Amino acid sequence: MTPLQALQQYFGYSNFRHSQEAIIQHVLNKQDVMVLMPTGGGKSLCYQLPAVLLNGLTVVISPLIALMKDQVDSLNLSGIPAAFLNSSQDPEEQKDIAVQLKNNQLRLLYVAPERLFGKDTRLMVFLKTLNVVQIAIDEAHCISQWGHDFRPEYLMLAGLKNEFPGVPVIALTATADKLTQKDILDKLNLQKPAVFISSFNRENITYRVNPKKNSFNQLINFLEERKDESGIIYCLSRKSTEALAANLKDEGFSAEAYHAGLTNDIKAKNQEAFLRDDVKVMVATIAFGMGINKSNVRYVVHVDLPKNIEGYYQETGRAGRDGLPSDALLLYSPGDAMKLKGFAQVENNPEQSAIMLKKLDDMVNYCQLHACRRQYLMQYFDEAFPDNCGSCDFCLSEFVKFDGTLIAQKALSAVARVKERFGVTYIVDFLRGSRSEKIWGDHKLLKTYGAGADISKADWQRYLRELIAMGYLRVTDDAYASLRLTPKSELVLKGLEKVELISSQTTDEKETASLNFEAELLNGLRKKRQEIAVMENLPAYIILSDATLLE
Ligand code: ADP
Ligand code: MG
Ligand code: ZN
Repeated sequence: MTPLQALQQYFGYSNFRHSQEAIIQHVLNKQDVMVLMPTGGGKSLCYQLPAVLLNGLTVVISPLIALMKDQVDSLNLSGIPAAFLNSSQDPEEQKDIAVQLKNNQLRLLYVAPERLFGKDTRLMVFLKTLNVVQIAIDEAHCISQWGHDFRPEYLMLAGLKNEFPGVPVIALTATADKLTQKDILDKLNLQKPAVFISSFNRENITYRVNPKKNSFNQLINFLEERKDESGIIYCLSRKSTEALAANLKDEGFSAEAYHAGLTNDIKAKNQEAFLRDDVKVMVATIAFGMGINKSNVRYVVHVDLPKNIEGYYQETGRAGRDGLPSDALLLYSPGDAMKLKGFAQVENNPEQSAIMLKKLDDMVNYCQLHACRRQYLMQYFDEAFPDNCGSCDFCLSEFVKFDGTLIAQKALSAVARVKERFGVTYIVDFLRGSRSEKIWGDHKLLKTYGAGADISKADWQRYLRELIAMGYLRVTDDAYASLRLTPKSELVLKGLEKVELISSQTTDEKETASLNFEAELLNGLRKKRQEIAVMENLPAYIILSDATLLE
């Protein structure tokens, strides 16, 4: 039987997806393989199909009991003899499976790593007497501390290659950053592995980040339009999942909570209800979702900031496995970022702390992005992507713009005032009136100095980036990366051209109001500014944007 025939006969699909066929060919050729494919991409088939074709036993290492049962049930339904061994079974059941194994009646056996490599070596000894022809390691990122779901028991898999020399190993994961990839290969000690990386783009998911203001109202608004649809809401803490689920129920929504602190019974009950569509909204911590094969999840909301892009992408990836349009919404507040920064400090492990902080930083940058979100995500996974995806809040032009002419004038005038000799960081400090010795000492007498103290550092950095992107400023190529004015800057400084900036993710209404007020004041002071321009013998347009006149 060829792989394609097996695909059609046992799995009922007409074609292979992604690189499934090539991967399967490698396994059949007894080569080690690492598979990186997005959630819902079809990783299971990459070892299940060889298991059908190879004459022997495929051992599948899998982290969760619930996951094993699901997979085994569906294999058996397709007529493929498979079983799992875990602590949920009574001795009779386990004995029965052992007999089937001995008689070569099973094609796949699912086990947890600790079961195979733990103190009790009986299973290992027994399996080594059988004809094991393939070892599959599902959710292989669990072996890496750098991943988002480290499971110490996965470290036991380091002994795999010694215990089963010559048996091809296939490691599969939906987590793809470089560090985790390398870690998986190293720790598993794979031999000349072929690495298959599928596109991680999930084109049916629309990505949005909204500033978190009143998250409950924001959620209600979002859910009102999706009452009949299934979705997952991720929260940071166990407590908030229960509180939020209760509040949603009070508002008439069908919601349940899920987190690792609930009893197994409640977890199983809530999960079942969600899978059967009896419950529409699952309010969960990240403990929920791995291996959940529910195809019609229409949205995933993060009400709290995820710790890193890997986790975020995996969680949002649980939406739209059926390929239909789905939504990913994240509610972002800088306060959440501060909170997570605290958590990212791993005691006595500066190396790991640094990595976690860097990953958190990447996550925060994603939230504050003023560019295509999908492109950012794809670049994060080292995948090139054009810069307009058409289905993120940026590409859909959902960002709120405002008249940023005044802000632009302040920025451009600051650049002019320091004679175009400094870069972004310096200009931001200058605008914010930094008291650092160097800047204060050099410029305290200049009128633009401190003119932008009411705007946060992060916002100024973003505004400057936008001004550069729109050609109102340019950056020199040299090591100084100084900001320079352009022919377009003069138009803005002279008030001949308006500049639209993208509303800050952090700007609340109060802040916007104060900007408007300021603008009015400045209008009233036009005359006075002209006088000063004459006095200081400077081109009028530079003084025109000088906001210290507000005093
Ligand atoms: P992953 O483990 O990568 O998240 P799964 O192996 O659970 O994904 O597969 C996701 C879904 O895609 C399943 O419903 C599976 O049956 C389906 N699938 C896998 N391969 C194919 C294929 N070649 N054609 C159609 N559907 C497929
Ligand atoms: Mg899977
Ligand atoms: Zn986009």
